[in-house]
Order: sequence, then C-alpha cells, then structure tokens
Amino acid sequence: PGAGTGSLLRGLNPEQLAAVTLPAEPALILAGAGSGKTRVLTTRIAWLLATGQVSPGGLMAVTFTNKAAKEMLTRLSAMLPVSTRGMWIGTFHGLCNRFLRAHWKLAGLPQGFQILDTGDQLSAVKRVIKAMNLDDQRFVPKQVCWFIAARKDAGERPDDVAAHDPTARTMVDIYRAYEAQCLREGVVDFAELMLRTYELMRDHALLRQHYQARFAHVLVDEFQDTNRLQYLWLKMFAPPDAGQSVFAVGDDDQSIYAFRGAQVGNMSDFEREYRVRHLIKLERNYRSFGNILDSANALIAHNTHRLGKNLSTEAGPGEPVRVQESSSDHGEAQWLLDEAQQLHRGGVARAEIAILYRSNAQSRVLESALFNAGVPYRVYGGLRFFERAEIKHALAYLRLVENPNDDTSYLRVVNFPARGIGARTLEQLQDAARATGRSLWQSVAAVPGKGGANLTAFNALIERLQTDTRGLTLREIIERMLAASGLIDFYRADKDGAERIENLEELVNAAEAFVTQEGFGRDAVALPVDETAPPGSLATVRGDATRSPAAQRREALALDEVNRVLSGLGVEPAAESAPWDDAALAAAFDGAAPAADGAALPARVDLTPDAETGEIVSPLAAFLTHAALEAGDNQAQAGQDAIQLMTVHAAKGLEFDCVFITGLEEGLFPHENAASERDGLEEERRLMYVAITRARQRLYLSFSQTRLLHGQTRYNVKSRFLDELPEGALKWLAPRQQGFGSGYAQSYQQAWQRGSGLGGMVGAGRQPWREGGGQAAGRAEGGRAPWVDRDTMPPAPPLPPALASKAG
Ligand code: ATP
Ligand code: MG
Repeated sequence: PGAGTGSLLRGLNPEQLAAVTLPAEPALILAGAGSGKTRVLTTRIAWLLATGQVSPGGLMAVTFTNKAAKEMLTRLSAMLPVSTRGMWIGTFHGLCNRFLRAHWKLAGLPQGFQILDTGDQLSAVKRVIKAMNLDDQRFVPKQVCWFIAARKDAGERPDDVAAHDPTARTMVDIYRAYEAQCLREGVVDFAELMLRTYELMRDHALLRQHYQARFAHVLVDEFQDTNRLQYLWLKMFAPPDAGQSVFAVGDDDQSIYAFRGAQVGNMSDFEREYRVRHLIKLERNYRSFGNILDSANALIAHNTHRLGKNLSTEAGPGEPVRVQESSSDHGEAQWLLDEAQQLHRGGVARAEIAILYRSNAQSRVLESALFNAGVPYRVYGGLRFFERAEIKHALAYLRLVENPNDDTSYLRVVNFPARGIGARTLEQLQDAARATGRSLWQSVAAVPGKGGANLTAFNALIERLQTDTRGLTLREIIERMLAASGLIDFYRADKDGAERIENLEELVNAAEAFVTQEGFGRDAVALPVDETAPPGSLATVRGDATRSPAAQRREALALDEVNRVLSGLGVEPAAESAPWDDAALAAAFDGAAPAADGAALPARVDLTPDAETGEIVSPLAAFLTHAALEAGDNQAQAGQDAIQLMTVHAAKGLEFDCVFITGLEEGLFPHENAASERDGLEEERRLMYVAITRARQRLYLSFSQTRLLHGQTRYNVKSRFLDELPEGALKWLAPRQQGFGSGYAQSYQQAWQRGSGLGGMVGAGRQPWREGGGQAAGRAEGGRAPWVDRDTMPPAPPLPPALASKAG
C-alpha cells in the first residue's frame, strides 16, 4: 500500500483487509449478509485508485440496482474525494447503455436510441400481435414479453430458439417481428441492452481488445445473482486468461433471481474457470443486532442447498424482533403508519425506515395510508412516477424530439391532445408504414385527405419543437414542450387535471434535480450544435461548441482534483490517470470494418475524466434514459426525507435502521407460485433472509388475516417462515385491530380450515399470537390492549459498537 492509504483501510478486520489489498488476480469473496462485502469492494476501488494502481477510467464495477450503484458511488466519494462521474460504476443495464451510446453506430442503432420500459415493451408487443393478426387470448402479450426477455437473457436471438411445435414457432415469429419493429423504431428494451452489448463484444475482436486492455480491474457485487448472459458478458470484458483482475463478491444465501435465470452455479464456474486462488470468507456481521441475526441464521438453516456459513455479531442481542398480526391489510397499513410515525418522532430519520413487501401489488394500500396521512414516502419499483399517464405522454413528446421514428411514442401522442386523427387514419398510417418498412413519422405522406393533413401538422409540430428547443436547458425544453404540445392546456381544461398538472410540474423538478445531480450544470446546452462536423460523429457531439465553458472548466477541475488527491496521499499520479478516449475509439471503430480483427488499437488521447459519459449525449437524451432505466423510482419525492417502500428484491444490498417486512402470509410470502416445489421454496426463503438482514436495529414482521389482492379478498394463514424463527428472539405484539364480527369470524374460521393444508398450522393452540396472557380478553373488550407494545425508540437510537465506530 502506498503512503496515506491508512485512513482508507482503518477499521477493516483482518479478512476484509486481506480482501481489499489482494494482488491483481481473480478473487472471490464469499460471505453472508452485512459482513462488509460491498464495503470491501468499494474500499478496494478506493485503495486501487489511491495507490495509483489504476486510473478512474481503468476499472469497471457492476452491481444490480440503481440504488445500490448510487450507494456505492456515495460511499466511494466519502472515502476519496474524486469525481466518480466518469467512472464505469453502475448497474449492468446502466453500463450497457453507456457502452451502446458510445458504439451506437457499430451496434446498428440510431444515435438517439430510446429505451423501452416494461410498459412500453408491452404496448410494442401488443402492436406486433395485432399486426400479425394473432389472437391475443392465445398469445397473451404479457407472456410474450416474458418469453422474449427470457430468450434474450439466455443469449438467444429468434434463430437460436428451438421451437418444436406450432405455438412455439409462432412465439418465435412474434419475437422476430418484435425485433424488427424495435430496430425500425430505434428502441431497445432492457434485455436488449445486455444482449447487444454482449454480441458487439463477441463479434469485434478490436473492441474486446480495447476494453480488456482498458479495464485492468473488474469488480462485481452480488455475483450470486448473475444470469448466464451476464456471466458471458463479464467474460467478454475480462476473460479468464487476459490477465485482468476480476473481483467478485457474493452470497449464495442471497441468490434471489433464479426465476429470471440467475445461476448460483456461476460462482463455482467462476472459481474454476478463473482459477481463483484467493477465496475469502467473511463471517462477522457488522450490520445487525443479535436477535435479528439469529433470526436470519435460524431461517436460512432450513435450506438444504447451501455452501454453508454462519454469521456472528459482537453487537449484542439488541431489541427483540417484533411480530404484528392485523385483521386486514388496511389495519396493517394503519399500524405501520402509526409505528413509523412513532419511530420518526423518536428521532429516526424517515429514510432509515424501510417497508418491504414481497409483491408490488401490496404497495397500494400502504401508499394510500401514507399519502392520506401526508407522510413523505418514496417508492422504489412498483408505482412509478415515470409511468403515470401524463408523465408518459410528456416523455413521449420529448422522445419524439430526440427520435421521431419512435413509433411507440408517436402512437401515444399523435392524437393526444385530440387533433382529429382517428383510428382509421392511424390504421392507414400503420398499413403504409408496414408496407414500406418505414416509421410512422416517415409515412404520413401516404395518408390521404383530412387525416393525412392532420398527421402532417403533427409532424410539423414536432419539427418545430426540435428547432425551437435547440440550445435550451432541459428545463426550458420541457416547459416549451408542455406548452407547445397542448398538454398543459388539455389538463387545465380537465376538471380532474389539477393533480396531473402537478405531476407535470414535478417532471420539470425531476429534470432539474437530474441535471444538478448529473452535473450537467444549468449552463450546459442541450443539443450538439457543431453542425459543421460530420453528422453523428461523436466528435461532433463532443466538440467544444457542445459544452459550455463552465462545463469544460468543471471537467478540468475534476482531473486536477484526482491528481491533487493522489499527490496529497503521497502517490505520484499514475501514468494511467488519463482516461481512455471514447471519441477516438468510437471514430476508429466506426470507420473500421467489423471484421477488422487484429488491426491496431487506436491511440489513447488524454481527455478529462467525465467527458466520456456526460456530454456524449445531450441532457435530454440522458434524462430520457434515466426516466426509462429508473422508472422504478418515485422521483417526485427525491431529496426529501422519506420513508422507503420497496419490494424485497429491490432491497438487496441495502440497509436501514428500522425495517418492516409486511404480508408474511402463506401464498404471499412464500409466494404461492414458488411454494409448491423445493427449489422455489428455498428461493423464497433466501428472499426472506435478504429481507431480515436489511435491518440494523429494529425489525418488524407483520401479517394480516385478510388481504385484498388483485381484486380478491384472501383469508390468510401466517407464513411458515415465522415458525422457522427462534421464539426467543421474537416478541409478539397484540393485534390492534379489534372487533371480529361473527360473520367475519366464520369466514375466518373457514379460511383457517382451508389454509391448514397449506401452512400446516392448525388449531388455536399453535397460533402464537394467542399465547401470552389475556389477548383474547383484549380482543373481547374491543379496545386497545394494555400490553400492546408501544415503547418508543430512544431519541438517539444506540448504535452497536461496530456501527458506532463507522458513524464516528
Ligand atoms: P449485503 O450482503 O447485504 O450486501 P454486505 O456484505 O455487502 O451486505 P456491507 O453493506 O458492505 O455488507 O456492510 C454492512 C454494514 O457493515 C455497512 O454499514 C458497513 O459500513 C458496515 N461494516 C462493514 N465492515 C465493517 C467494519 N470492519 N467495521 C465497521 N463497520 C463495518
Ligand atoms: Mg452488499
């Protein structure tokens, strides 16, 4: 280690330290939840940078969720004051997007290609099914979407899919037609980002050579959840024999994406194929108190397919895990709300309170309780800000400004607000487009009469927007679009439009926040304006005319900053500290024939650290990408101290002081689709293990006797997972929901009888919430039982010693 890295490494335990400072060779860190895997990975990045072993542009780090990627960047900036912006740290999709933005030409994509989110993809598939005259009862669009995504995740194009019966063949035909449509419209779905990147690397030796030479270090968090394609993708960027250091961290007990093709087997494959000499295990948990950890350990011990490891903590038992039963989902939501409010009043930041659920559908009730009470909350996944109708309309206009051939967006707004363009006109337009293989935008001339004229007028509107918004800031672009499109007027005239207008204003705010966050700066201009350069070349976009002096200054400063930090640490700025130049690279590749294997590598040119990402695309394009890739996040409350709502899947890798796991009911968690077979059940259990281990200090488990889901009232049996936890670590809270009516009691009874076959939990004697004195009496009284657990959190919750040292 070079001088001055001591502060980086301070506080690591010996195994962690060993992992952080491993030589540049393939390594696998296999360790349980909260043992510091992500911390080790992040510290290693900082250490590599600080010791000059690698330049910011010379490493790549991949993780799974946007939130996790952001957290990694935050942790990194806290350790080392470098600009992380130009670094290749992100999600698989985010990095693929960046890659394809640089190599769009080689990838056969339009420069302004747009990303389809799942909703867009569904409507695109619907159009294909319709165009093919297929029965959407037989070829259910949602299932087709799954099929296509699964094929892509397996790395298969239509020609690679083995289809043995007519139905399967038709599915493949839909897949093929869908692909053609996407290409025509210049859009890609999520799976396509991965697959196309993989194929590009596979097919271009030169590109491979470049990236392999460039990324001396590749680090992968949550390795247990990589699927086949992601592993192959990784091998393209850093194959076993290329002498790069691949640093993988993972936990087999947290593998929760098998249903999407994740293969824990990738871990053993990795170990074998990369001839891993450094396998490090971490067994001390720094996140949670003993009762939480004991619960997690006891639960996961019920799984048979494990590599086997146990976690321990020195933090002491802490508070018991609280278990709450409610009579209905509304009751559960109300209890949650009260409890969360209480925690907040007790001094817990809202952002440190997480409410987790197994299925997105559960969030509606929770959200409405929080919303009605005026409590700020933020949803990750599920109810999506960017998926609200008015927001999608606005985004569609913006997308057309970027790329008018995007048929999905075109269809969405061509007659919204109404412009006298009827279904028949649109049918004519689509027929014409289909006949010539062109986009809708390009086909308007083929439509006769009044309809055709209206279409032409719409095209003119978009064209006008394209010209008028050139050079404007993102905020101005959106405002102009909202006015010119007629959206604002439309919603103003609508008596229920007020909330939608608020949301549209929120979109402007989200854009503003995005611009600030991404460092585009208010002064950055929106579109490449150097029109003298050859169209489409990256150099054009990168040309000085595209960046304001302020942006250039900022970039220069960022590089200075890296060098200053490094020399401050007593490290000579590495010769490598100049990042790679994507412009030169892309230009070289775009000129080179695809088969130009073995040709000379383009020379490296010194460039500023973040020039390679930020300014390649306009803020508008970047924002649209952000809207698609982060559709999961409820941006409206960004920046506010808000309670965090998310599925357990989305919570992977994160941690919170207080965690609520809701809906612990048979059929919901474990989910009914999975509970019938052992593998499925084990995956559900790993999911529960992930959920439990998110909590630092306080954990709540909650279930409800009834729940309205997908329009049906379910009568529930509590989850078997509750029975798998150590009684000693739990504290059962009395239900606050009272007043069982006789009718209710009856159906409840029936439900129990039905449910007994499921959960194996029969009879009052085995219902733990009936144990412990006097609860029945409490119910009978109909009031709040005196033993209801209402103890408040101390104002400043005590931290376990391990956490306290971190906080200090
Ligand atoms: P997960 O499996 O959930 O992703 P993880 O193994 O990645 O967990 P981290 O998130 O890196 O674990 O660490 C868990 C918590 O413990 C973090 O708050 C981290 O800062 C803290 N931590 C890790 N190592 C130490 C240490 N040596 N001293 C103090 N705190 C630590
Ligand atoms: Mg982690």
